[in-house]
Amino acid sequence: MTETDYLQLHDSFADDVQIVITAHKSPDGDAVGSALGLYHYLKVLGREEVTVILPDAIPGYLKWMPGAGHILINEENPEDAAAKIAKADYIFCLDYNSLTRLGALQNAVKNSDACIINIDHHQEPEDFADFVLLDSKASSTAELVYEFLDKLSFEEKLPLEAGQCLYVGLVTDTGSFKYRSTRAQTLEIAARLMRSGVKPGMIYDKTFDQNRLSKLKLTGYVLNEKLELWNELNTAVITLTKEELDQYDYEKGDTEGLVNYGLSIENIVLAVFIKESNEGYFKMSFRSKGGVDVNEIARKYFEGGGHINAAGGKSTASLDETLRKLKNILPLYEDKLHSAFL
Ligand code: 5GP
Ligand code: MN
Repeated sequence: MTETDYLQLHDSFADDVQIVITAHKSPDGDAVGSALGLYHYLKVLGREEVTVILPDAIPGYLKWMPGAGHILINEENPEDAAAKIAKADYIFCLDYNSLTRLGALQNAVKNSDACIINIDHHQEPEDFADFVLLDSKASSTAELVYEFLDKLSFEEKLPLEAGQCLYVGLVTDTGSFKYRSTRAQTLEIAARLMRSGVKPGMIYDKTFDQNRLSKLKLTGYVLNEKLELWNELNTAVITLTKEELDQYDYEKGDTEGLVNYGLSIENIVLAVFIKESNEGYFKMSFRSKGGVDVNEIARKYFEGGGHINAAGGKSTASLDETLRKLKNILPLYEDKLHSAFL
């Protein structure tokens, strides 16, 4: 985005335009936080026609967020979503850099005549937007949305709801400001959000400390029974089948963060979480330390991608075959797996 781009968008948003905000499938705190943060700000500008559209439902731990109830979910309401997208003048694409991450929503966006604005922090972006604010060093898309709004230079102050949502994006995508993606700018923005009224303790409590007991018991089961170490590869693997999830009353979002337990074990530099989905495949989450590039592993072998130390993908093979494939691939990364520190 150049200065001229910001000026042009500033002028456009002062007109009566229809705006749609999208974020990726299986939305996380950054996807929802950046989308709703932007939504609340554009609302303050007087844009009645701003709609957040997500491919599928948001997880329970994010439902408290201001504006969450106004999100249009494509899976539940495809006609309305398609109609909004067809009428849009501007479509924001937040927290993803390939339209495939929109699932069933991708064709509607691809076929729309709207001006597309892509704000994202993932690696290896695809070229589908008219305006791009991409920075793979940013901690979160929320950080970039803050920068975007700052540079648009409207006089209106950031409303509290927008600040709260952006803060959720920051705090979830940085593991509460502990991942190495946390940079000085991240903390500066957090401080500015605090000064505009955001209460970190309240956000933390609502997001992380309102668990259902069955979710915690699922975590207990995983740690006791399902955490496998492949010590020769400094790798931890967790698998969960649908049957196991059902036993613990699984709800969307309940397994968020489980993969990080693997990575918290001494000498482990790669953690893989494999979960059976309802769509007939296994969803994979990868986390790593140092130079173990899980974006590459996910992209090359598991139809996915992400960041160097956090990525996702999928496998349509059986669980046994998926594990066998992983075990065959990892020796290719042996050097990195043995020298990832630090
Ligand atoms: P998670 O493991 O939390 O689902 O995702 C980790 C990171 O990888 C996130 O930044 C997420 O956006 C990205 N990611 C997860 N699944 C996929 C996928 O299927 N494709 C791509 N390209 N990125 C993914
Ligand atoms: Mn993100």
